[in-house]
Amino acid sequence: MLTVRVPPGSPEAHYRRAGLLIVLTCLLLTTGVTLLLSGPFQVGRTDQLLLSLLLVKNAVFITWLWRAPGQFQVVGALELTGEILAGLYRMRDVLLVDHTAHGLSGYSYWLALPYLVASLTLPAGAALAAAAPYLLALGALGVAYWLTPGVPGDQREANTNAWLQMLLMHATFMAVITLQQQLRRRYAHAVAQAERRSAQALLDPLTGLPGRRALHDLLDAPHDVMSVVYVDLDHFKRVNDTFGHDVGDDVLRHVAHAARASVRAGDDVGRWGGEEFLMLIRGDAAGAALIAARLRAHLRDHPHPVVGAVTLSCGVAQREPGEAISSALRRADQALYAAKRAGRDTVELAVPPGAA
Ligand code: GH3
Ligand code: MG
Ligand code: MG
Repeated sequence: MLTVRVPPGSPEAHYRRAGLLIVLTCLLLTTGVTLLLSGPFQVGRTDQLLLSLLLVKNAVFITWLWRAPGQFQVVGALELTGEILAGLYRMRDVLLVDHTAHGLSGYSYWLALPYLVASLTLPAGAALAAAAPYLLALGALGVAYWLTPGVPGDQREANTNAWLQMLLMHATFMAVITLQQQLRRRYAHAVAQAERRSAQALLDPLTGLPGRRALHDLLDAPHDVMSVVYVDLDHFKRVNDTFGHDVGDDVLRHVAHAARASVRAGDDVGRWGGEEFLMLIRGDAAGAALIAARLRAHLRDHPHPVVGAVTLSCGVAQREPGEAISSALRRADQALYAAKRAGRDTVELAVPPGAA
């Protein structure tokens, strides 16, 4: 089965739509300039009308692409169909009706455009499937011309030769575009995979919370007044010893969920390591202590199904103006230590910097 759809909103879709916009803008300029020069170029009335219609068509398609980026494949498919039909019709006239002695006409330069438009609109296989019949039809036109009676010999040879070389150039063009498209797809795939992996690497695999590296990134970012809260489970080693490591893991997930539910939308919480979590609170120490209390209450109200009520100790520090974040973290750690010494299952506020 041929893949036709390009995932909307993907970087690939963005690239394709941009490519179509470039092609259509060039066509708009070409039709505009040719119309302006239609006097000196002695373009006939009918052709002037056709050029005006093309101008409008290009303007409409460009607007369409701007307004509805998700529909770029519809625009591309219409453009492609139009170009193929117009190219074949026009060249049938040139080769089989007019029998022009003036070469293949200026239009022949545009005959390679459908390969480009097909490759921008459709994935590699489908683009090839759409463009190959067109190349074959152009070939058939050449054969028909060669077989047309009444064309002077030298003219027939010159035009058929030029036509053949053009078709070979088309085939080369098509092959390279297809190859490029495959390369582009692999590249987009690799970039997406790398982005996914680097996002995953920042998350703690057990709890799904931001891991220590992500917490460091958050701490490094410029903040307003911010408080930090160290959260450490009480006697967690006993949980492992009593119920096993798997249940211990599940308790960590249970606490992570509770912590996530306790902080507000603008705050962050991550796993600092082991059975320790860190909350980054956009607010003063009093507000942070309130959130820590909320977490303890949440765990009290939602006991773990196997282990029962889980308790934890918290150390809260508010970052003072001009204070390095490392200093605030150190004070929060000391406060956590104080909470443990005070008998656990409690929240302790850090002493101000310099007071210790
Ligand atoms: P305290 O109240 O003083 O904090 O005592 P505690 O037992 O919680 O602290 P301690 O530092 O003695 O032990 C922490 C335990 O956490 C030991 C370790 O096996 C366990 N732990 C650390 N990371 C994980 C983990 O990812 N999964 C599980 N199941 N256990 C973990
Ligand atoms: Mg600990
Ligand atoms: Mg502990």
